[in-house]
Amino acid sequence: MRIGGIEAGGTKFVCGVGNEQGEVVDSISFPTEDPETTLGKAIAYFKEKSVDAIGIGSFGPIDIRPGSPTYGYVTTTPKPGWGNVDFLGTLRREFDVPYGWNTDVNAAAFGEAAWGAAKGLKSCLYYTVGTGIGIGVFLEGRLVQGLVHPEGGHMLTRRHPGDDFAGLCPYHGDCLEGMASGPAIEARWNVKGHELPSNHPAWEMEAYYIAQSITGAVLLNSPEKVILGGGVMQQSQLFPLIREAVKANLNGYVSASEIVERMDEYIVPPGLGQQAGLCGAFALGLAALQSQVPSL
Ligand code: ADP
Ligand code: ZN
Repeated sequence: MRIGGIEAGGTKFVCGVGNEQGEVVDSISFPTEDPETTLGKAIAYFKEKSVDAIGIGSFGPIDIRPGSPTYGYVTTTPKPGWGNVDFLGTLRREFDVPYGWNTDVNAAAFGEAAWGAAKGLKSCLYYTVGTGIGIGVFLEGRLVQGLVHPEGGHMLTRRHPGDDFAGLCPYHGDCLEGMASGPAIEARWNVKGHELPSNHPAWEMEAYYIAQSITGAVLLNSPEKVILGGGVMQQSQLFPLIREAVKANLNGYVSASEIVERMDEYIVPPGLGQQAGLCGAFALGLAALQSQVPSL
């Protein structure tokens, strides 16, 4: 079986072919330009690949409500040229295969649950902390879908006591993304995140904000695993800082052993590493294919 996958990021697109074990058979990557050029490159890639299904994990916001007239569209994104673009329809017109369609972070959460750090579990959260912050929500064996998809990166935050940074989010100022994305770190400290020493106070502050979000998410959703990916999480010193801060925030209230005794295995990097997004797209494609096949 050959599953196509598209990890559609705001900065770059990764297209690939995988198998039903989530292994990458082939992949390419190119910068995200205007929709016509970028989707044209994706179509050209899959033309020679004869895939059985395609899964797409896209930057958003996107419309994932089946039956909606704009299902499959990128909707209100501030990314120039990409607002109100029929992403899925453009692919559908070229390839008549089953499609999986969801956000980039939901795809990554789904892939991690299929083959990665949350394998065998019925729930996980997948955070990406990079140019933006997104949170994929997989609960009770499925990706959460309500009015739209969750937008956890924009939840409001309680300010760190030593932080007077205004926040960068064009919609909310000091929401989580506004305070803790890669660009927010750079704007607050006037230096790129990867140039800050690992003992710089920036990281305690970063951990404070991420941990605050995880604390709320643990209380609201009770996920069995919290997976943290994205460029900023390359700073591995963040993991122990975040785990400690979540534990301190919860203050013994959630009495699961995962939190009280095994926090090192509870808040973790992606099991699929840099391939979480692409493999997540494969998982979406595979699920779409399987849901088309009547069970015998
Ligand atoms: P994107 O979110 O665009 O898909 P990334 O996840 O790589 O891509 O996130 C890019 C952001 O992460 C940038 O703001 C960059 O400064 C920051 N970043 C990337 N690598 C590191 C690092 N090693 N340490 C700290 N910040 C990093
Ligand atoms: Zn926001």
